[in-house]
Amino acid sequence: MNISCSAEQKFFEIPYEGEAVVAGFWSPELGLCSQSVLLKWKEGKVNSLQPLDHLESYPKTTLLWDSYFLLPGWIDAHVHLALDSLDFYQCLENWAQPFLIEENIKGFLQHYLEMGIVAIRDGGDLPGFSWRAKKKVKEGVWSGPRVISVHEAVNRAGMYGRFLGRGFKDLLEWREKEIDFFGQGIDQLKVVVTGLIKFDDFQGVGPTQWTVEELGEVVEAAHKRGIPVMAHASGEEGISVAITAGVDSIEHGYYMKTGQLERMKEKGIAWVPTVAPIGNLLKYPTDRYSSHEIDTLKRILEVQLTKIREAYHLKVRLGVGTDAGAYRVPHAQSFYDEMDWMVQAGIPKLEVYRMATHENAQILGSPELGRLDVGTPMSLLQLVSDLR
Ligand SMILES: [Zn+2]
Repeated sequence: MNISCSAEQKFFEIPYEGEAVVAGFWSPELGLCSQSVLLKWKEGKVNSLQPLDHLESYPKTTLLWDSYFLLPGWIDAHVHLALDSLDFYQCLENWAQPFLIEENIKGFLQHYLEMGIVAIRDGGDLPGFSWRAKKKVKEGVWSGPRVISVHEAVNRAGMYGRFLGRGFKDLLEWREKEIDFFGQGIDQLKVVVTGLIKFDDFQGVGPTQWTVEELGEVVEAAHKRGIPVMAHASGEEGISVAITAGVDSIEHGYYMKTGQLERMKEKGIAWVPTVAPIGNLLKYPTDRYSSHEIDTLKRILEVQLTKIREAYHLKVRLGVGTDAGAYRVPHAQSFYDEMDWMVQAGIPKLEVYRMATHENAQILGSPELGRLDVGTPMSLLQLVSDLR
């Protein structure tokens, strides 16, 4: 079996039973321990964690991980495995050569594990690349993080999201194809509620695609099957429609309003604010955008960070998701950018870690992830170099 060592950007092969000295650990369950600890595991699962006296000696078989801290593996709550973060239009053309895309995805998955990310939630692609990747990981054909996949998104025909889903003309067409849609396999339902934000127009957002009644019916169809709903939504109107229709998480949510955060808190709706697709364009300068666009991006970033801080203080459920695959949002590495953005928003680092593990596990609908306790599989943990 393997354990991710993000400190060295690789994973270690380990026996099913063993022991190791680590410099300390952190988990949402056990809190922070920054003294040496003897970790023992049996049948691939954590068996005990005992603080150590420095003078003790260990058997020769004890692994010395004494420069690493043990943490639950990270979870990225929003990625697109079928996109390469380099060139959107070229990438869509490459979809005609599935072999190329699958090679890419295999590399991304490996890299996620090397960077300590043990689970991802994929927001979909029309050809179903992420769904097939999920199956290959599950069957052990590829190594990679656990993949929760929406398979194909639900969007309105002729509106934003053509690469995410086939598009439904209206609710009648949705009803006609609903059974088929769920039948093709789905972990969560992603609905495209609005278009994209506009980099050259502060407050500009592509049109809202559904009424509350329409979206409510789509949400109900998923919920009665026990399937959570993630909603791509930005702008006051679209976010309100998503909240009222009862979705489980708002993705992106640019231009969020305070009153909307309060309603989300009441209804237990999570927010995955994906800062990296905006913030990384400023953090890693590119000549792709005009100075007007750069100014607009700066304003969008500022209001997004302010709202994230507000959400944190209002105790709204906050997830950490990158939108990896988007331009300048590379798979795996961008997760560290996204955590930095949350810290920049004013959230204490260990609280960001809690969101990146425990809260994201709830958002993925996989509460067995994002934890470190007796019984946790070693393959869901990671070794990091420091906790500061
Ligand atoms: Zn997305």
